[in-house]
Amino acid sequence: MGSSPLPVSLQSKFQRSQSTSRLRDYHGNFNILRNIIFALFVLRILRKSFYFLRGHGLIGSILVLYHSIHKNAYKMFLNLPGVRSQVSKQLEIAKKDMEDKLVPSGPGTNHYRHLPKEPWTKEQLHTELESLAAMKRTRWEEGKVSGAVYHGESSLLDIQSEAMRLFSVANPIHADVFPAVRKMEAEVVAMVLALFNAPESGAGATTSGGTESILMACLSARQKGYSERRITEPEMIIPSTAHAAFHKAANYFKIKMHTVACPAPDYVVDVNRVRRLINPNTVLLVGSAPNYPHGIVDNIPALSKLALAYKIPLHVDCCLGSFIMPCLAKAGFPSPWAEEGGFDFRQPGVTSISVDTHKYGFAPKGNSCILYRNRQLREYQYFICPEWSGGVYGSPSIAGSRPGALIAGCWASMMFVGEKGYVDATHKIVTTKLTIENAIKEHSVLKETLSILGRPMVSVVAFESFDPAISVYDIADAMSKRQWHLNSLQDPPGVHVAVTLPMTKPGAVDSLIDDLVAVVQGEKEKALDRLKAGGPIEKGKGSSAQLYGVAGSLPDKSIVEKMVVAYLDTLYKA
Ligand SMILES: *Cc1c(COP(=O)(O)O)cnc(C)c1O
Repeated sequence: MGSSPLPVSLQSKFQRSQSTSRLRDYHGNFNILRNIIFALFVLRILRKSFYFLRGHGLIGSILVLYHSIHKNAYKMFLNLPGVRSQVSKQLEIAKKDMEDKLVPSGPGTNHYRHLPKEPWTKEQLHTELESLAAMKRTRWEEGKVSGAVYHGESSLLDIQSEAMRLFSVANPIHADVFPAVRKMEAEVVAMVLALFNAPESGAGATTSGGTESILMACLSARQKGYSERRITEPEMIIPSTAHAAFHKAANYFKIKMHTVACPAPDYVVDVNRVRRLINPNTVLLVGSAPNYPHGIVDNIPALSKLALAYKIPLHVDCCLGSFIMPCLAKAGFPSPWAEEGGFDFRQPGVTSISVDTHKYGFAPKGNSCILYRNRQLREYQYFICPEWSGGVYGSPSIAGSRPGALIAGCWASMMFVGEKGYVDATHKIVTTKLTIENAIKEHSVLKETLSILGRPMVSVVAFESFDPAISVYDIADAMSKRQWHLNSLQDPPGVHVAVTLPMTKPGAVDSLIDDLVAVVQGEKEKALDRLKAGGPIEKGKGSSAQLYGVAGSLPDKSIVEKMVVAYLDTLYKA
């Protein structure tokens, strides 16, 4: 009848002893578990420290630590009450300067901050558009701007406008409604794949620009790492000279980034350092062909070997190189790393390449391509949402709706320029780059002050000042007073010129060199005067000298960041 064989007192004693032994068991198991978790924790820290030490070396690791302490101490200093108010006062002044420069006001400028109640007439619009087009600006037509406008001839602009007008309503998200745009997009990708020697398996997509192409390459690599190797803390290794878009990708997609020095005298990425930073979390290696700052092509063959050995994807950023890189040999110039097998998909380790059709592909702005070695890599960048209440959704890249007009403009530009046109353009551009390079190396005034950074082989030539009395930023500022729009660089301090077609027009490059000689001469005289007066006065007063020379030398960049925020805010001041 359910009665226990044991007396009640004994029964409870037995149960108690049984439960304490069970408790002891639990306790024992818990201890083991705790020790295992602790050991895993320690192992993880050891593993991380090991990869950190191996990646940076002992001295390098100490330096990293030192810089971080230095930076934080400086940050604290900036937050001291007296310092902070001084900093914000200076920032306000800088802000005001920016507004005065970027947002002209006063008599004759109209500001429209509300929709017009009555629609404008065609004539009204025409007049206003004409006056907007005539706003005071740098004359790119005369070849006075580095980069920015890559072609600009009216014959091409007319073709682009026609193509864009015909397809201004087109949106490739509706491939069935706009079949022509789908066709043109596929053909643009196919033509660019062919230019970069993609294998049969090659695949690609168009994007809104170089930044989006780079974002997609990094996303694809991250997704590949997760799908195939369950990497949840992805890392990538880029040259310090790689484009800022990689920093953006790391930020957007939460990829830890390592930057590797590109030391003088050749300024290509140090491949041994890249190797030391590789660890089981590495999802992507990067090389530029060429990089933006110095126009130098990293050692893609060596990076390709590394990528193959460690089975890691390798992205080649050919955004800037775009159509010049594949045309160099045909235009009669040496092609970087040709003897080692080239810089593109001919290197078996290269898995993706970004190519800006809107740079030296001469397409309208808002065009670029991302190319992959195979379709699987492209699939990793796709976004698919099967459960959306708006219907099953899929899109290849960041945007949903996309401008079909830009694809039509790109396709038309490529067909209109053709291979011969690109080879001719390459010839003109690289010849002009050589003219500037030779002037800096050979002109008696320039060669005493300036030196070329590395051995540029494409369209960009960068220089620094090796005369300690002359700041290269003062040279940039003096050039901009003469209406030249060159680009300032940091680490090392420098200036570059990205040659585009407008600069190849007769007279443009000669006047660039003449002005550069006059400016350097002027800076030399100023330096001599300073020496006579016995003090470093009147140096580094210009805007680029201030931003890069003064603010740039600070250990913590929060002031520079605040200046950039102020600049970006100013852009939206109506
Ligand atoms: C211009 C450029 C990019 C990307 O630029 P977008 O402005 O987004 O088109 C990327 N890499 C290099 C080397 C570049 O010069």
